[in-house]
This record gives sequence, structure tokens and C-alpha cells, in this order.
Amino acid sequence: MGAFAHMAAMPDLLSVIPVPKREDARYCQARLRLLIETLPVTIWFNPVGVAIACAALWFGRSDFGDLPAWRMALAVGCQCVASASAAVAFRLYPTVSCESVSRVRRALVALQVMIGLAWGGVVWAVWIEGNAANNCFAVIIAVMALWAMALTRCAVRSVFFAGLASLAVPLCARFMTSSGVTAYVFLALLPIWMCYMLFSGLSARKRVDDMLAARFANEDLSRELAAAHDEAVQKREEAELANKSKTAFLANMSHELRTPLNAIIGFSEIIMSQALGVNNPRYPEYAGDIHTSGTHLLTLINEILDVAKIEAGRMEIAPRPLHVQSALESVERIIAIRASEKALTISYSVSPALDEIMADERAFRQIMLNLLSNAVKFTPQGGHIAVDCRVADDGGTLVSVTDDGPGIPADKIEQLFKPFTQVDNRFDHAQGGTGLGLALVHGLARLHGGRAWIESSEGHGTSAFVYFPLATVKRDLKRAM
Ligand code: ADP
Repeated sequence: MGAFAHMAAMPDLLSVIPVPKREDARYCQARLRLLIETLPVTIWFNPVGVAIACAALWFGRSDFGDLPAWRMALAVGCQCVASASAAVAFRLYPTVSCESVSRVRRALVALQVMIGLAWGGVVWAVWIEGNAANNCFAVIIAVMALWAMALTRCAVRSVFFAGLASLAVPLCARFMTSSGVTAYVFLALLPIWMCYMLFSGLSARKRVDDMLAARFANEDLSRELAAAHDEAVQKREEAELANKSKTAFLANMSHELRTPLNAIIGFSEIIMSQALGVNNPRYPEYAGDIHTSGTHLLTLINEILDVAKIEAGRMEIAPRPLHVQSALESVERIIAIRASEKALTISYSVSPALDEIMADERAFRQIMLNLLSNAVKFTPQGGHIAVDCRVADDGGTLVSVTDDGPGIPADKIEQLFKPFTQVDNRFDHAQGGTGLGLALVHGLARLHGGRAWIESSEGHGTSAFVYFPLATVKRDLKRAM
């Protein structure tokens, strides 16, 4: 039952595999290739076969009739010329490209006319007026040639027809210009032979096409299977990477959450139990530490929620005219404290042409804070960071943060915009972090219709860019109003 059900499903399965049309260049190429592959038979067999036939006529001249040597040489010569031409074509067209299909087809038609005429020439050369035995022998050779032609040239219709016609015409001329019953019988039989060859050739061509259709369907299926396999492997690698990133994230997060939580619990316990005595002057300091740790925790949790929201497509932004200089100053105040701890200098440059941009204020500050936090985190003591905001070539806004830190290996850059991803080097282990910052920057930039990217190489610092497209720049709105 199961087996029958499977068989019933087969036609459906086959119907989804697109079968190429028979006029496709791919079919034409394959048919021409099949024909070219038969040329070695023509190259070797035709002159050798005719030479053997002439030898038979020579040694059997008592029965076949006396044929002058020059006529035999002419018959073999005709075949040698055709065979040499076939050899040239075989060498010239080892492959058939899409563009060369028509050219190769024309060349093969010309070659086939030459081969047909060469066979006609053989019959004319060995024909002895009134000698039925000799002439029957010649015609048998010609009919064998016709038969071979129907089988080997049927794949390409124009070549096949050219072959039949170029042999039929000299044969017909030969029979019509001869006297005697044999010639008339051959003349009567010629149309029947031609019809028979035509029918055989065309039905052989159909079988060739069916074979090609099966071959192409097979090739297409294998290609699709290979592509599906590659995609599956890529998806598996991505899933493994995501899994690894999440495991790394959990390890990082437990560290990131535990450190402030331990501080909060530890300091609050000291204050609660008045462990250092009543109204110890250090209690307000501890309360400050609890506040800092709590704020840090809140930032962390907010980042996680923001990334989750962006990933779920539920984050909304409210772009408003934003004064770039003032937005940068508010970020500068926060970051200056951390920068001064490492004696870093930060230079800010805002192009005079850039006044207000259309952006969500919180998102813009978050983007700048994340990029600057990374720059501060990874720039060594006493280093320099440059913030640059300018009008991009196409009129949008380009913001960049450049540091002279350790840089990022080129092959790692792309993946850093995925959540929970870190370079995983000694700097990361030293600096901590969750791998969420750049994912947020990327997500927020895209919400503005822009994009974020990094240019960096190991040991040569890092430049992080965010591009806001023209539509978000306010001066453009002014122009439109
Ligand atoms: P986090 O810094 O919290 O780990 P991010 O998404 O902001 O998360 O950064 C991901 C990783 O990208 C960092 O862990 C670090 O490996 C690398 N990175 C980001 N910015 C820089 C930079 N300016 N210099 C060197 N590495 C950086």
C-alpha cells in the first residue's frame, strides 16, 4: 500500500522539475556535440571503407567489370577531402558555446554537403554504364552511407537534411543520365529509400531528444540537490554559530549580572546590618556603589530587551529634528568620565553643513554611546578617538568613530553585528561585555533606513560607521517644504 502511494506521488514530484524547452540553446549545444562526436567515424571509416570497396572492385574485375585506376583514385580522393574537412571541424569545435551554436551549425551543414557530394562522387567514379553488377555494388555502398548518415546526423535537423539532399541529388542525376533497367529501378527505389531514411532519422532524433531531456532533468536535479545541500550545511553552521554565541552570551551574562548584583547585595547588607558601626561615613559611598551597580544592571537589561524588540520587529522609533552638536555633547559628558580614567583624548568634528538630522534622539544617543563605549574600552591608555559627523556623498549623514585600538580581524567583522557575538580574543576577555552593542547599533541604524559597518584590520585601529539616508536629514525636509 505504502509503495503504491509512493508511486502515485512520483508524477507530482517529476512535474515540479522544470524540463528545459527543446529549442533552448542547451539542447542545440548538446545535439551539436553529439553530432561532432560521430565525426571520427567519418574521418577514419569513409576513406578506408571506400579504399576497401575499390580494392574489391579491382580484384573482382572479372565479375564487376574493368575500372580504370584513376577512377578508383578519384573515389578514394573524394572521401579523403571530405574526411580531412571533417577532421578540421572536429579540431575546430571541441566544445560548442552558447554564442557559437549558429556558427558551428552552419559549418557542419557545409561539411555535410561536402560529405554527401563525396559519396555521390564515389558512385559517379565507379559507375560503369551497362554493368549491373558493378553499379549495384556502387549503389549498395551509397545506400550504406545514407543509412549511416541517418543514424549519425539525425540529432541536428539541418545537417541531416543537408546530408540526405547532397547525396540524393548526385544519385538521382546518375540514375537519370544512365540507360538500362538497373538505373530505372534505382531511380524508382530512390524516393522510397529517402522516405525510409527520413523516417528513421527523425524518429532517432526524437529518441535523442528524449535522452537529452532525461539527462538535463537529471543534471538540474543534481544541481538543485547540491544547492539544497550547501544551503543546509550553511544553515547548520549558522545554527551552530548562534548556539555557540548564545552559550558564550550566557557565560558572559552570568558574569555581567553577578558582578553588580554581588555589589548590590554585599553593600546593602553592610548598610542594613550597620556592620561598620552606626552612621559610618562610608555608608553613603556604599549607597552610591549600589546605585551605580543598579544603573549598570538596568542598562544591561534594557539592551537585552531592545535587541529582542528589534529582532521581533517591535521596536519603534520617532524621528524628530535633532541638533547633532547638542546630541553629541550629551554623549560626550557621559563618555568623558570613562575616557579620563584611561587618559584618552576624544576629538569631535561636526561638518558645518550638518545642522539638524531627522533621527530618534534616544536611538541616536544609544548608537553614539555604544560606538564610543567600544572605542574607549578597546583603546589603550593615552590613546586617541575621533568622532566625525559629515554629509555623505549622496546627501545623507555619515557618522564615524575611529580609534587606535587593537583592531578587528577582517574575517570576524561581519558577524559582530549579530547579537551576542564577540571577536573572542584576549582583549574581549579582558574587557568583558555582552556582544549586544553593535547588534543594537545595526538594528537602530536600519530602523532609520540606514546601515552600520566597520572598517578595521588587526593591529591598525577600528572605524565604525553609521549612515543615515537623505530622507532623514532635516535640511532636505526644509527644501521640500
Ligand atoms: P560588547 O562590546 O558588549 O562585547 P559589542 O557588540 O559592542 O559588544 O561588540 C562586539 C565585539 O566587537 C566586542 O566584544 C569586540 O570584540 C569587538 N569590537 C567592537 N568595537 C571594537 C573596537 N572599537 N575595537 C576592537 N574590537 C571591537
